[in-house]
Amino acid sequence: MYIETEKGQWEVVIGLEIHAQVISESKLFSSASTKFGAEPNANVSFVDAALPGVLPVLNSFCVDQAIRTGLGLNAQINKVSSFDRKNYFYADLPQGYQISQFFHPIVSGGYIDLKNSEGEVRRINIERIHIEQDAGKSIHDQSPTKSFIDLNRSGVALMEIVTKPDMRSAEEAAMFLQKLRSILRYLKTCDGNMDEGSMRADVNVSVHRPGTPYGTRAEVKNVNSIKFLATAVNYEVERQIDILENGGEVDQETRLFDSAKGITRTMRSKEDAQDYRYFPEPDLPPLVLTQERIDNLKKTIPELPDAKSARLQKDYGLPQYDADLISSEMEIANFYEDALAATGSNGPETAKLISNWLLGELFALLNKNSVGITESKVSAKMLAELVKLIVTNVISGKIAKEVLEEMWNSQKSANDIVEEKGLKQITSTDAIKAALEEVLAENPDKVEEYRGGKEKLFGFFIGQAMKKTQGKANPKMLNDILKELLQG
Ligand code: ADP
Ligand code: MG
Repeated sequence: MYIETEKGQWEVVIGLEIHAQVISESKLFSSASTKFGAEPNANVSFVDAALPGVLPVLNSFCVDQAIRTGLGLNAQINKVSSFDRKNYFYADLPQGYQISQFFHPIVSGGYIDLKNSEGEVRRINIERIHIEQDAGKSIHDQSPTKSFIDLNRSGVALMEIVTKPDMRSAEEAAMFLQKLRSILRYLKTCDGNMDEGSMRADVNVSVHRPGTPYGTRAEVKNVNSIKFLATAVNYEVERQIDILENGGEVDQETRLFDSAKGITRTMRSKEDAQDYRYFPEPDLPPLVLTQERIDNLKKTIPELPDAKSARLQKDYGLPQYDADLISSEMEIANFYEDALAATGSNGPETAKLISNWLLGELFALLNKNSVGITESKVSAKMLAELVKLIVTNVISGKIAKEVLEEMWNSQKSANDIVEEKGLKQITSTDAIKAALEEVLAENPDKVEEYRGGKEKLFGFFIGQAMKKTQGKANPKMLNDILKELLQG
């Protein structure tokens, strides 16, 4: 996929470095809590504050989480890895260095497969995943004369997931981040809450003429939403093409994304690039893993989105679009399968109806109420009951929409609502015929016009008959009988 300008074609190249906060109750090298939203500096141990004489103790649960992440991303788990110091000075980094893994990361390789809009699979390769500690947070906007430091994040475990430069458009980079987030959430190794800072991406972007070596990249730091990622890439692509087409050169530099303006701007150029003077961490031994530990963790990997989507398509005949959407979150997939099971049928008609009602009307209600599927006021069982009423022709789809909303508001079952409000569909031929005959008798002029060729009046007759039956006439029967009557 190339970008065309008046001066020829350009190819975009993107690689991501994603920081994902590990789900763990305590920090990577201390027992302090990682709870989000605590009072500033409430979750700080001596280790996180880097008091003299303290030593880091590796949290083995965080290591398990990194291993599980590697397994979920089809990667190689390295049985020997080690920690290194990344040295720099900043007020929110009391140690004066971050403990990271530079020379020997715990995970190498791996990939995520993306499907583009043409249905082709694009494999995005992962270079490595390493574990490291987060820094604290500096707060500059609470006082005109002072800065504040919150060390709650100091020492929290992060996974840095580095991709190969394999993405070719903003859309593809956004899809990658979305899918990575989905997999990490399935694995429960990162909660993926980008607005809480649990996941953020450094975005490397370059452009080049197709068939020539890759161009010089710029790196945009700390992009914290999927939408911003796409905006940042598009801005960079335009900026770089503009420079190159006007005879300039792209600087290899670090840039910041301004989310309010949708632009990037220079943070530091290559000449000011930091030299972190990485060296092996002397306070920690190499991290050695046994095959048994890896094998045991393998057993804890759940069915992941791709496998789940394939199974939903195969077992229930769902279209790929539905299956992918349902599989994007484990909670949605569970809801779907629970609802389908509760209908007592897994034929393709019921399977597709459950999907339609979940992804269509129920999602609309969830959005309207700003809640997720786990807080849905209509349970999987309740939705199943509603769909059963549609399948068995007790109510029409149109009435079912009303019923669903009422279910949400009142917590009553679909059956009770239909019963109480007398919403049962009219499926008696005689009753439907009677309603239609009345409509035709009341509108002799329109019947004449219809017979004279004004065929769109068909819809008018249907509408009138629906009104007479309070929307309860079976739509298909209504159509069929009207056709008969008008021919007669
Ligand atoms: P560093 O550690 O200095 O940031 P790396 O070589 O490890 O550099 O690359 C970091 C990221 O930049 C990776 O995600 C990689 O895929 C990406 N990258 C490397 N070269 C390019 C390029 N020419 N264009 C876009 N992204 C690139
Ligand atoms: Mg980098």
